[in-house]
Amino acid sequence: MTRCGVVALAGKPNVGKSTLLNALVGEHLAIVSPKPQSTRLPVVGLLTRADTQFIFTDSPGLLEPEYKLHETMRAAALRAIADAEVIAYLHPLAAFPAPDLSSVARLEKPPRAPVVTVYTKADLVPPSDRPTVRPSDCVVSAPRGEGLDRLLDTLRAHVPESPFHYDPDAMATQPMRFFAAEFVREAAFELLHEELPYSVAVEIDEFREGQEPVYIRAVVYVERASQKGIVIGEGGRTIKAIGQTARGKIEALLGTRVFLELHAKVLPKWRRQLSSLKRLGYAG
Ligand code: GDP
Ligand code: MG
Repeated sequence: MTRCGVVALAGKPNVGKSTLLNALVGEHLAIVSPKPQSTRLPVVGLLTRADTQFIFTDSPGLLEPEYKLHETMRAAALRAIADAEVIAYLHPLAAFPAPDLSSVARLEKPPRAPVVTVYTKADLVPPSDRPTVRPSDCVVSAPRGEGLDRLLDTLRAHVPESPFHYDPDAMATQPMRFFAAEFVREAAFELLHEELPYSVAVEIDEFREGQEPVYIRAVVYVERASQKGIVIGEGGRTIKAIGQTARGKIEALLGTRVFLELHAKVLPKWRRQLSSLKRLGYAG
């Protein structure tokens, strides 16, 4: 009998959820940034290993909402926890021990699913300083690939017996246009400074496959006219750089050449308006 189930990667912002998802799946699916709260929507990554199909969900960090977008992000994170068969609760090893997930997430009652505590970023802690974790906990370093096999063995024990839900070779479930929009946003996180990336949202206007190069036209939304000027940059330099960086990421995932056209537009205060959040796919 095979096993198949949803493993939610949960934890505070910046603990390494997206990095771990990518390391487990072996493909760059979820956007990663040193800036916290880069993940806005759950990203699903699949790994089929021997008799077990893991359906990993990377969700936004559990945070205190400051504006409407944060509320939808927190709701998505809580839904992922509620829907999971197993919860991998991530916490940096350097900040050992991990507080209780229920208190971090301010859950009214403990989650239904079993929780495996995963200490991340082990490479940042010198071996002599490493604390002794409980035998049921896992310790990983995603960039070094350390601890991943043991983590999968631990998680597997909690994954229910079930037929596979997806093709064993599949790595993603979401459409390529979703990843295209995410990678433009990841490029914006890399190339724009301070708070500006948080005001950026991306909408794919056109996605023409079945031709080489694949043609993608996307709109980079910001909240104010002054931000639009910065995103475009002197002589269009900045938006061009964002486009080049994003194109490389999309080409790597698609495995074909891509022509990416970006336009900057203002969508006033989109982070605070439910109608805009819905249109951008961030709410209900
Ligand atoms: P998330 O907000 O929980 O999804 O965290 P990310 O995956 O975006 O990672 C946040 C930051 O921590 C990024 O700069 C990552 O490169 C870095 N990071 C994540 N995992 C590790 C790790 O195992 N070791 C080290 N050194 N850095 C990591
Ligand atoms: Mg993330």
